Amino acid sequence: MLLMLVRENRRNRRLAYHDMLTGLPNRMYFYQLANQAIDWAESNHQRLALHMIDLNEFKTINDSLGHEMGDRLLKVVAERLRDTIKKQGKVARLGGDEFVIIQRLQPDEDASQMATALWQSLVRDVTLPDGCLSPQACIGTSLYPEQGTCITELLTHADTAMYYAKHSRTIAVQLYESGMDERRLRRQKLAIALQAAIEQDQLTLYYQPIFRLDSGDIESVEALLRWSSPEFGMVHPLEVIAVAEHYGLAHRLNEWVLQSACQQLHHWHQSGYYWLKINVNVSPSIFMDGELALTVQKVLQSSGLDASTLVLEITEDTSLWDTASSVETLQQLRELGIEIALDDFGTGYSSFSHLRQLPLNKLKIDKSFVADMTTDPRAYNLVKTIVSLAGSLDMKVTAEGIELPEQKDQLQQLGCELGQGYLLARPMPGDDMTEQLLHHTR
Ligand SMILES: [Mg+2]
Repeated sequence: MLLMLVRENRRNRRLAYHDMLTGLPNRMYFYQLANQAIDWAESNHQRLALHMIDLNEFKTINDSLGHEMGDRLLKVVAERLRDTIKKQGKVARLGGDEFVIIQRLQPDEDASQMATALWQSLVRDVTLPDGCLSPQACIGTSLYPEQGTCITELLTHADTAMYYAKHSRTIAVQLYESGMDERRLRRQKLAIALQAAIEQDQLTLYYQPIFRLDSGDIESVEALLRWSSPEFGMVHPLEVIAVAEHYGLAHRLNEWVLQSACQQLHHWHQSGYYWLKINVNVSPSIFMDGELALTVQKVLQSSGLDASTLVLEITEDTSLWDTASSVETLQQLRELGIEIALDDFGTGYSSFSHLRQLPLNKLKIDKSFVADMTTDPRAYNLVKTIVSLAGSLDMKVTAEGIELPEQKDQLQQLGCELGQGYLLARPMPGDDMTEQLLHHTR
């Protein structure tokens, strides 16, 4: 009887202090462990590192593959973190896809080495019944005692560093630095202003024509988001998208862009430019959220636009998945009659298998290849290869970022069908685009 009571007690204690899914300490228990570590470090004059770990696009994974797969991934993550930190620290799950580690540092140990090792362990492929997943994660690290002497301070700073990494798009592991808080504050204020700007229709679209290189005819216009905020001035589109993604505004922003672009195109069609198409960029999280086809359908209906005149541009990092769900989303979109272009081709994660599996119509060659093609034979050969690859897959190819006549000549010689760039036309407001169309005969 006594034994049973003891077991029951242990079980209750375990439930109260641990996360059921991963078996890791929960938030409450982590505070205890971290405070113990801080006490130890203080009395022994030692240093600590606090690592905050967050998976990228976890919500998307949950939404597209189901919670069961999401849970499996979380278990794998927990295991990998535990195996990497070993006896040097404690791992806990704070909730969702957020993990935290408190690490005892050796004298002179560089905390970023462990942060990098943790990151490397996380991004290894995970095999799931449906295929293979390549998780992406960001880690932010803060140091005791230099950057905080209590757990709240350490957590806040590690979180700020992690947030910074998340939005840099190039950094995955980041040590806290002073000054990051101000940048974070800016992002929070931007998010509030952006929400108001969407609601009050204060955003604008610029349009950059895409030309047929042989005839000089305009084939399409790419809609590009511009936000001039009364408070912040011109905000760079990449920052707008980053803020929208982080603060849950991506869906509304995307819908606004689609709606406005389609309305503008409808207006041009009515003015007689019925042959004109429009390219709209879709941000990664939207592509995977499963509602994109519905949104597109709704927008097409309300704008009265023919589906065949809409081209959605998706970036390569959107194609995170080789699995059925990307193909399904794209298939749904294709069934509506719209076209899909793979944007910035050559810089992201695309592989030949993406090209084989995904129902794409167009490739856009990234401007970095075009920029170097007249001076670097390797860049030239890559462009040549992409053009012929696209041709053999029956995809139209567009060269981005044409700035010099030599680039245009070479692209034409290679048989590249479409082109876009400052040499041909800069992005311009809708009225200027209307003016340009007026002088355009085809
Ligand atoms: Mg684009």
